Amino acid sequence: QNPRFLTRCHLGSDSTSPAVMRRFLLLYATQRGQAKAIAEEICDQAGAHGFSADLHCISESDKYDLKTEAAPLVVVVSTTGTGDPPESARKFVKEIQDKTLPPDCLAHLRYGLLGLGDSEYTYFCNGGKVIDKRLQQLGARHFYDTGHADDCVGLELVVEPWIAGLWTALAKHFRTREGQGALTWAPGDSSSTEAMQPESLHMQSQMGLLRLNDSRRNDSEVLGQNEMNRGRSGAVIEDPESSLICSVPPLSQASLSIPALPAAYLQVHLQEPRGQEENQASVTSAEPVFRVPISKAVRLTTSDAVKTTLLLELDISQTDFSYQPGDAFHVICPNSDSEVQALLQRLQLADLRDHHVVLQIKADTKKKGAALPKHIPERTSLKFIFTWCLDIRAAPKKAFVRALVDYTSDGPEKRRLQELCSKQGAADYNRFIRDACVCLLDLLQSFPSCQPPLGILLEHLPKLQPRPYSCASSSLSHPDKLHFIFSVVEFLSHTPAAVTLRKGVCTGWLAGVVASVLQPDSLAPHAHSGTALAPEISISPRATNSFHLPDDPSVPVIMVGPGTGVAPFISFLQHREKLQEQRPDGNFGAMWLFFGCRHKERDYLFREELRRFLERGILTHLKVTFSRDAPLGEEKAPAKYVQDSLQLHSQEVAGILLRENGCIYVCGDAKNMAKDVNDSLVEIISRELGVDKLEAVKTLATLREEKRYLQDIWS
Ligand code: NAP
Repeated sequence: QNPRFLTRCHLGSDSTSPAVMRRFLLLYATQRGQAKAIAEEICDQAGAHGFSADLHCISESDKYDLKTEAAPLVVVVSTTGTGDPPESARKFVKEIQDKTLPPDCLAHLRYGLLGLGDSEYTYFCNGGKVIDKRLQQLGARHFYDTGHADDCVGLELVVEPWIAGLWTALAKHFRTREGQGALTWAPGDSSSTEAMQPESLHMQSQMGLLRLNDSRRNDSEVLGQNEMNRGRSGAVIEDPESSLICSVPPLSQASLSIPALPAAYLQVHLQEPRGQEENQASVTSAEPVFRVPISKAVRLTTSDAVKTTLLLELDISQTDFSYQPGDAFHVICPNSDSEVQALLQRLQLADLRDHHVVLQIKADTKKKGAALPKHIPERTSLKFIFTWCLDIRAAPKKAFVRALVDYTSDGPEKRRLQELCSKQGAADYNRFIRDACVCLLDLLQSFPSCQPPLGILLEHLPKLQPRPYSCASSSLSHPDKLHFIFSVVEFLSHTPAAVTLRKGVCTGWLAGVVASVLQPDSLAPHAHSGTALAPEISISPRATNSFHLPDDPSVPVIMVGPGTGVAPFISFLQHREKLQEQRPDGNFGAMWLFFGCRHKERDYLFREELRRFLERGILTHLKVTFSRDAPLGEEKAPAKYVQDSLQLHSQEVAGILLRENGCIYVCGDAKNMAKDVNDSLVEIISRELGVDKLEAVKTLATLREEKRYLQDIWS
């Protein structure tokens, strides 16, 4: 017998039950489903590593109790654009932030946290950071280092190694804390196949490496843990870290299969269409949906402007929809007809576009907890699914690319796909897919031999999300109406074979919807009054935020909103105008607006309306920067961007924020503008208070906590 085979094993205290699966609590706080998907992935993998995950949404507080939880906790938390924890975690955060909690009430708790965020936003991964910090303050300790995954460069760059390391950390935790059901042995120990079927063991070494010994071939091979497979006749551990944790799952679960490749779990049946198609709104939104006519469309920019910005007026008189200045709402939008058709054609499904899809979970699926996608109705047409339910523009994630490998027949194409989804291919993946704005259709066109089944697409294509827009009117000045503005997004998708000019899913669609009521090249804004033929769109309210005017109108406010970021401030100003009309003797605080655009004569949005607000004293200070207009004559170069203008008014800005208890609102681009404005505010505070940057950052954080520094930022 090979001496390296296991002959001894040391059972933990529960020697009668070698099959104990070590349980951990797994919570997710999700904003758009990513944290949930990652938590589900962890849950799926857990069994293969000898653990059992007790998975819950963090909002399901009746299903767990941290105060008494003995098992380790794993949390996956995403972050909203403003750096807050997601809506689903608000109650949890409120509860743990309760100041009456004793500082050691979670001292028994050991946890690992994975934060998701986007470094394009100012408060990267802040949702996770807030929870992490508070758990520490309450005495909980890490059993595994926190991971911060960045959607800007690809979440998987951090998520995949973090999950891989989680199993080692959990194993170590159980070994040191409990040892229940764990078998330990040292390198060089061996076990005979009669004592326990080595192929029925799941083993994980400290280093994640397992040496499999194949007695038939009398050789051995070191495998990463994801490569373990069935049917090996022996297992020898070579672990530089002295010992190995091994759990023995019940025989029925015993296998060395590792869910490296997501197995298809959806069974799709196509049936001839019967009956009416559902209203799209009912399936794509959890919120109430209102179908409303577009009563007016106005072009806010000239035809030679860099971007086309449109204002739409919606008639909400026949609905219960209501809004406050500063609110945003969702527009439910479809994918472009031509893209849906092209994709169905590429999938050889075009002839079946009106057939109904019936979905079922495959009886033999390996995916634990597989569920039917909630955003797809139980029975609806293929065309409907691809038009209203699935985000066919999304950059295919690595797991999706990995799944496509199995359905690609050409060798070189298969290898290229494998490369793209491999760990080493991360930079390549970003360059070829994310940065090149490649969608599924582009990918399939670049890999002609890839012919995935429908089930795989329905599993991997994310939900088509409704798009948020700020309300750009006040219902006091426009009763029964709702205004919003948007710039028509245009970008290029690059594949090795083609460069395609695309429009944003929602803005491109809206621009098309209103094309009939707009004069595209007219310089003067062109209004269209609603008629029976007015096009209709579906909207739904967005969960309330705190981007609202202070209750006390005497509080001075600073508004920073370049480009379409000015939208909510138009609603603030219209609202204030009405309040001032109602109470001419009222005490109203100063209102500063910092607006920025490229050219005074091309994209100065709401120019006339802002001038009127200024004349009427509603707006007390209007500071506008033109980023691409040359200075006139001898004039010295004026401020280019809103943050430069803030710096020029450093003293007044600091006065309002630090002495007059005022508020500052920032709306617009998250990627650059909001960060640069934040940096400028730090500089201003540092200079005006005579403190270092760190102190200034803390002051700004306090303003945020007091809800006096509010952001509504978008990317
Ligand atoms: P934009 O026209 O692209 O830009 C407006 C101005 O900002 C330009 O003068 C631009 O200058 C300047 N700018 C560029 N980089 C800047 C920086 N780092 N700091 C300060 N200013 C900078 O703006 P937009 O297309 O309207 O986009 C604004 C953002 O607001 C978008 O992300 C949009 O999604 C979002 N938003 C939309 C709504 C809505 O309801 N529609 C509401 C709120 C926010 P240069 O180009 O010359 O550099």
